[in-house]
Amino acid sequence: MENAPASKNFIENIIDKDLAEGTYETICTRFPPEPNGYLHIGHAKSILLNYGLAKEYNGRFNMRFDDTNPTKEKTEFVESILEDIKWLGADWEDRLFFASDYFEKMYEVAVKLIKKGKAFVDDLSADEIREYRGTLTEPGKESPHRNRSIEENLQLFQDMRDGKFKDGEKVLRAKIDMASPNMNMRDPVIYRVAHMTHHNTGDKWCIYPMYDFAHPLEDAFEGVTHSICTLEFEDHRPLYNWVVQEAEFPHPPKQIEFAKLYLTNVVTGKRYIKKLVEEGIVDGWDDPRLVSIAALRRRGFTPESIQMFVDLCGVSKSNSSVDYAMLEYCIREDLKLKKPRLMAVLDPIRLIIDNYPEGQIEYLTAPNNMENEELGERQIPFGKELYIEREDFMVDPPKKYKRMFPGTEVRLMNAYYVTCTGYDTDDEGNVTAVHCTYDPETKGGSAPDGRKVKGTIHWVEAANAGKATVRLYENIVDEEKGVYNKEDGSLNLNPNSLATVTAYVEPSLMEAKAYESFQFVRNGFFCADYKDSKEGAPVFNRIVSLKSSFRLPK
Ligand code: ATP
Ligand code: MG
Repeated sequence: MENAPASKNFIENIIDKDLAEGTYETICTRFPPEPNGYLHIGHAKSILLNYGLAKEYNGRFNMRFDDTNPTKEKTEFVESILEDIKWLGADWEDRLFFASDYFEKMYEVAVKLIKKGKAFVDDLSADEIREYRGTLTEPGKESPHRNRSIEENLQLFQDMRDGKFKDGEKVLRAKIDMASPNMNMRDPVIYRVAHMTHHNTGDKWCIYPMYDFAHPLEDAFEGVTHSICTLEFEDHRPLYNWVVQEAEFPHPPKQIEFAKLYLTNVVTGKRYIKKLVEEGIVDGWDDPRLVSIAALRRRGFTPESIQMFVDLCGVSKSNSSVDYAMLEYCIREDLKLKKPRLMAVLDPIRLIIDNYPEGQIEYLTAPNNMENEELGERQIPFGKELYIEREDFMVDPPKKYKRMFPGTEVRLMNAYYVTCTGYDTDDEGNVTAVHCTYDPETKGGSAPDGRKVKGTIHWVEAANAGKATVRLYENIVDEEKGVYNKEDGSLNLNPNSLATVTAYVEPSLMEAKAYESFQFVRNGFFCADYKDSKEGAPVFNRIVSLKSSFRLPK
């Protein structure tokens, strides 16, 4: 095909073929999380992949909670997961499903299998089943109960449902092949007895279907065509196919595996994050140092940036790990033209303009984003006393230093040229204030005589400055030491992962709304924290700094 886009991924190729051959008329995908934790960036990949394919092929995307396991699920997570998916922009329309709503239909399929002689009730204990299962090199042994009559199996399965057995006393197994080279096909357990209350069905059931039986049925009941999952399920595919075939669906779904998204040196495992939350090391599941979707949102990432990231990662069949810097690249790209560039001083020192009139405040015009005129301009106060960054002044600088030191002229961004004339110190010799004079002819930042300056520094006028809390982040784990402690498997935490400073900011920033984000010139992109900001006392999280050595992969 001459005009076909060159870069279709392998899943698109499968779909194209299925549609061309008439295997399916339209496609249906789904996202099937277990409601047992918050979603993370890896899930975002799965969500956007499934939703993106449905949209691309004019098909359907279903949202389904895989809540067949009564031990782990929590209703609290259902809400957070839906919120995250909505925020990412994936739309399930009116198709929100719970696998537990299919328990009755799953039971019927199990009965059907028994009637076909394809399932049997077993009395072996879990340990015995494991023993009988054989190894990768040796075939398994058939259960002594494998050849029960269909009638007996039907009765026993009914009894299982009716609560006549204790947990573990009986299971229902598929009757497939104890000699199969694929261990998953050696008469896998498909139902177990568990006297447990389920968050949705309460105490209605005391038998629960196993994942490998339930999942293909959920897909099939919903008319899912392409059941996309991650690579660890590859060996389960023959069982998936067996289930949908034996259940005799006319258009059975097919399972397709792709590689999980891993981020180098980033912790995504639920177990670890739970521990960080419980020990109070992070401020909940959405602490901005984490990569749960809620945390990324709180930190100031946008759905667009995550989509861009997922697109750049691509879809593949082999596991690999992506650098966090790529995610940072995406958010910078997304925000750089969209957000105003304001001035904030994070490590302030006073700058006094000795020849500027005492008590005078003038308003200067500054573009909101030099690269995007559409964002307009603003008025900023200027006066005799300003704050500048401590690192923008040095008493005795190295050769290449382009900022302020005694005797040099620099530009105050959007304002005037100033010449440093001296500085004050305290008893210990620390610089407490810097002095300069300004050239009134250079208003706006250029000199009529054409003279140039080497450096431009940002500032905030002291009398009108707002005071804001700013949080600066590093990786929560110590990359030098490696993520995991070699001895006990715990995380090597970075003690400097959070630094909190009080910054002086342009007055307008004091009105920032939750989740509103900005560029603070030279310091990075920042987002107003929804949790900790108070009226008149905003808290800004640094999303990302401006500099990076990251280059897009070719
Ligand atoms: P985790 O253990 O990392 O929290 P999970 O696999 O237990 O993840 P599920 O709720 O079972 O979480 O996953 C829902 C869907 O998200 C599954 O289809 C799963 O394959 C997919 N998924 C999970 N982690 C990743 C990842 N890192 N990259 C891509 N897809 C993922
Ligand atoms: Mg899981």
